[in-house]
Amino acid sequence: MSDRRLAFIYSPEMEVLSYPPDCPFKTQRTGLTRQRLRSFGLLGCEGRREVAAREAALEELRAFHTDRYLEALDRASRGDLTVEGLHMGLGGEDTPVFKDLLAYGRWAAGGALRASDVLLGGEADVVFDLWGGFHHAFPEHAGGFCYVNDVVLACQRCVAAGRRVAYLDVDAHHGDGVQAAFYDRSEVLTLSMHESGKTLYPWGGAETEIGEGRGLGHNVNVPLPAGTYDDAFLRAFDRVVMPLLRAYGPDLLVVELGMDTLAGDPLTHLMLSNNAHVDLMTRLLGLSRPMLVAGGGGYHVENTVRGWALAWRTCCGEEEDHDLSLGLGGVMLGSTEWAGGLRDPVRPVTPEQRRAVDAELETSLETLVRLVFPHHGLGEAGQAGKAPGGAGPGGAAPKG
Ligand SMILES: [Zn+2]
Repeated sequence: MSDRRLAFIYSPEMEVLSYPPDCPFKTQRTGLTRQRLRSFGLLGCEGRREVAAREAALEELRAFHTDRYLEALDRASRGDLTVEGLHMGLGGEDTPVFKDLLAYGRWAAGGALRASDVLLGGEADVVFDLWGGFHHAFPEHAGGFCYVNDVVLACQRCVAAGRRVAYLDVDAHHGDGVQAAFYDRSEVLTLSMHESGKTLYPWGGAETEIGEGRGLGHNVNVPLPAGTYDDAFLRAFDRVVMPLLRAYGPDLLVVELGMDTLAGDPLTHLMLSNNAHVDLMTRLLGLSRPMLVAGGGGYHVENTVRGWALAWRTCCGEEEDHDLSLGLGGVMLGSTEWAGGLRDPVRPVTPEQRRAVDAELETSLETLVRLVFPHHGLGEAGQAGKAPGGAGPGGAAPKG
């Protein structure tokens, strides 16, 4: 148990909005996670409350998106897909046109803005907004099930409130829309750990894309080879991401916690277990900064729900799995493979997998250390140097 105050963004209005039935993006994941948490007694109690989302005004979406794009989204929602809309990416296989398209985007954006306000107002220490995380949306382009970029809007809101923001994206896909939004700015440090663009959409996110102008060194991509396993993921996090977070010293963290990194996801090729997310969240909580956790991807619904519920439980400071031998409130777990609780079993790693992942990953990490660390006053081992910067607030012990 901890006295950390958690909030979970939830509105029944969002339950009725959904993508087309044949689309892999399943909006019911948030409601299922909520049910799971409530059945564990981890939500809806002292210090772990639900907070209602709201539908963002179109005006609020204009902070990132253009008028003609919003007009195209509105028309497409009404079944009017124009040539201009097609050029903006609407109507593709991963960007279907459907009735709730704009409404969903507005609610997701409203949820992210509400989550930001809860953190900025000091009403909670960690806010989960699992409806959101649409990191592939650009000012005038949709992509990868994303139409309205709620996480960019959340970062912008926090920057406007004078906060220094670190955005960490651990979805299997590169956070290209967020990268583009802040590529030449230093008020947001964007870090994306994702399956390499050699094997996965959106085919970019190389370690050499490090920002430009004032943002030079403030865009960090950690491409993970297909087959990346828990220890390799955490090694990359500890070697590159953690020293940068410490050096940057953010006031606030925005995390895109896509669960499509888990082994068994039908769209990706990473091999994480959700135990990695426990270790990840524990490290992030150790920074003692307000944290917004957005949902993002995750196309194996049951694994995604368990991963998110486990991440929430980690934030609650609770470690042990409950006794599930009797099922949950009379309903047995959906997963027949593993009914031992929220945690996955430890996944074995084959020597071939290790060989395939380790060498390529090490090369990327070395490149990042060489290209990015100097911009943050970090030495090769990730220790704070003399100038510029040095260890940020809460940075304390350098990590070797
Ligand atoms: Zn994804």
